[in-house]
Amino acid sequence: MSTSILRLAWIYPDLLSTYGDRGNLLVLAHRAESRQILTDSLLVRSDQAVPREADVYLVGGGEDGPQALAAEKLIADGALAQAADNGKVIFSVCAGYQIMGTSFVASGNKHAGLGLLDMTSDRGPSRAVGELAGAVHPQLGLESLTGFENHGGRTYLGNETAALVPQVSHGIGNDETTEGAWRGKVVGTYLHGPALARNPQLADLLLAWATGTELAPFDETWTSQLRAERLAALAHH
Ligand code: GLN
Repeated sequence: MSTSILRLAWIYPDLLSTYGDRGNLLVLAHRAESRQILTDSLLVRSDQAVPREADVYLVGGGEDGPQALAAEKLIADGALAQAADNGKVIFSVCAGYQIMGTSFVASGNKHAGLGLLDMTSDRGPSRAVGELAGAVHPQLGLESLTGFENHGGRTYLGNETAALVPQVSHGIGNDETTEGAWRGKVVGTYLHGPALARNPQLADLLLAWATGTELAPFDETWTSQLRAERLAALAHH
């Protein structure tokens, strides 16, 4: 952080904002403020330039048309690629996640992505809809991830990108085996829910990366109830 205010940029809410992904912004702001870390939330519409000086960039889910448009605009804008180069945190969900790869398929056409994650997406045989969960890559030291998925795409990771979840226990995720990806501080996932409400340790990991500090403890009474409820729901899937 170059100033004492943590700047959270929510990218293109007018195009990429399905399934309550805005909650990820609210969760990050709330969990930071509760630790006396001041935040500034920047809503960046698709007709605006993406700020170059944010600390965390959030890119949400979307339908095929808006997703393809968002990818074109983000490539032309250049700020996200620069942010990744500068070690800023980027958290992307579903359509936003596919955009981080080298290419994706939307409405039957192949589109270029930002290439910040070494992966490609194409279409699967059916839509993946429902609960998605699994144990996290040990290097990240987080509890299991849970969330809701709804996507037609399938994602294939290259060698430069590790899976967030090497083996899903429920749902489809990337390709019925792995789920999500990360490289440096660029993270992507198919988890809606919103993901950071359902996986508060992941929220804190992003905040710790962005601030370079260890975070004070947080009262997890409500978050652990939500997690327990959602993990119990998996038993019915
Ligand atoms: N359009 C993409 C797909 O269906 C992403 C969907 C989403 O973001 N929920 O694969």
